[in-house]
Amino acid sequence: MKIPFDNSYTALPDQFYTRLDPKPVATPKLIKVNTALAELMGIDLTDLETTEAAEVFAGNTIPDGATPLAMVYAGHQFGGWSPRLGDGRAILLGETVGTDGIRRDIHLKGSGRTPYSRGGDGRAWLGPVLREYIVSEAMAALGIPTTRALAAVETGEKVLREQGPLPGAVFTRVAQSHIRVGTFQYHYARGDKEASKTLADYVIARHYPEAAKADQPYRALIEAVMDKQARLIARWMQVGFIHGVMNTDNMSIAGETIDFGPCAFMDTFHPGTVFSSIDHAGRYAWGKQPSIAHWNLSQLAQSLLPILHEDPDIAVGIGQETIDGFQEIFSTYYFEGFGEKFGLFPLQEGDPDFIGDSLKLLSDNEVDFTLFFRHLTGIARSLLEDGDKGENSLEVLRGLFKEHEALDNWLEDWRKRLTQDKTTPEERLEKMKTVNPVFIPRNHQIEAMIQAAVTGDFAPFERLLSVLSNPYSEQPEHADLELPPKPEEIVHATFCGT
Ligand code: AMP
Ligand code: MG
Repeated sequence: MKIPFDNSYTALPDQFYTRLDPKPVATPKLIKVNTALAELMGIDLTDLETTEAAEVFAGNTIPDGATPLAMVYAGHQFGGWSPRLGDGRAILLGETVGTDGIRRDIHLKGSGRTPYSRGGDGRAWLGPVLREYIVSEAMAALGIPTTRALAAVETGEKVLREQGPLPGAVFTRVAQSHIRVGTFQYHYARGDKEASKTLADYVIARHYPEAAKADQPYRALIEAVMDKQARLIARWMQVGFIHGVMNTDNMSIAGETIDFGPCAFMDTFHPGTVFSSIDHAGRYAWGKQPSIAHWNLSQLAQSLLPILHEDPDIAVGIGQETIDGFQEIFSTYYFEGFGEKFGLFPLQEGDPDFIGDSLKLLSDNEVDFTLFFRHLTGIARSLLEDGDKGENSLEVLRGLFKEHEALDNWLEDWRKRLTQDKTTPEERLEKMKTVNPVFIPRNHQIEAMIQAAVTGDFAPFERLLSVLSNPYSEQPEHADLELPPKPEEIVHATFCGT
């Protein structure tokens, strides 16, 4: 296996990382390699069948050209400040520049202790590795910016967690970079202005080259990150995704979804939905995600104050003014995106209120979020000249609502609104099909997949991966995967215990 490394992070000064190798594992066994992604990254997989690939993705063999290191960062975890976190169980092997010209990190997760492990064992168990594999690839297929899954291996070792000894695994994650809001916070908190500047310049060159041309490049950097994050959070919300640990160390500067710990997709719609077992106060609930993102971005702006302007008061003014723009940018992405889901575009004056009222109706009626939009798309199909009557979708929608009359009244209002723009029924249907998935990685399916994998049965993993790679396409032979959990299948909490 050949990886065409082209490493840049390792050229940064020492205070950005600790150079060290991953810790070997007992008996690496390949679970999965993402061959399409490997190809895009220019990785030659001709010896995939040999043990070499398993050895590399387990961290037992260091591939030629790798410069393994653990990155340092800080972060606010659930609002509490930790001055030094860092890769406690992860190693950055290096970067490649893909055939698409995009530079990506190759990062092993579960690869042993590092100077940043604190009390942790540096390892991961199979469950969260497979969860991250499925959910990150599903996100990518949904068209949402995300880190990707390149490989997963079993280690042949046991990992001790609350539940007892569990099978160990290593996950190979690919990201446009692993720089986080917390990376900036680390250097700011140490008062290392030189490092803040080095990092900002590196990020601009790597992710936001257009910011270099702005009058105030560091302000442009905040704006660029803010725009990416505002769009990302809106996209999460439009598929019912709840990240679960939106700590500043889990917010990517490149604007990708990162760190799939206790994340989950909501079944029944309610803005207060939370799954993470440690999020008792609902800090990171579905509907709180924009305000948390805003808060995290203000931490980024604060970390850049020393280089925003030499006069601290002026710097604060610039930072504040920039961050104050978040709500408006977010609202635009949020309402445009939900408008498309409801088939309302271009947006008209009363649409944000209509969207808000409609979501309230879904919440009051405890409606399954994904099924609602998927079958509203079915109704949109019935509005075509040669469309079916939409009876099936109407019947399913009726079944989702506690009060049928509320649905009937709403559909009447909705149809009325549809007559008020020039969008044709064909255009409307096409758009709705591209934003309303048929399949999402539902929690109960993920849990069942993990249970099977622990007993050595990876068929449910392969099936979920395959179905979710085409989330917007109907796949009648897999229609059972569209369904929400039966009462006894509902997963009430997801665990950080990764
Ligand atoms: P997370 O909540 O997964 O984003 O992790 C927060 C911090 O805890 C990061 O610095 C991780 O590297 C560290 N961490 C999480 N799990 C482990 C583990 N098993 N061993 C060592 N460090 C860990
Ligand atoms: Mg993290």
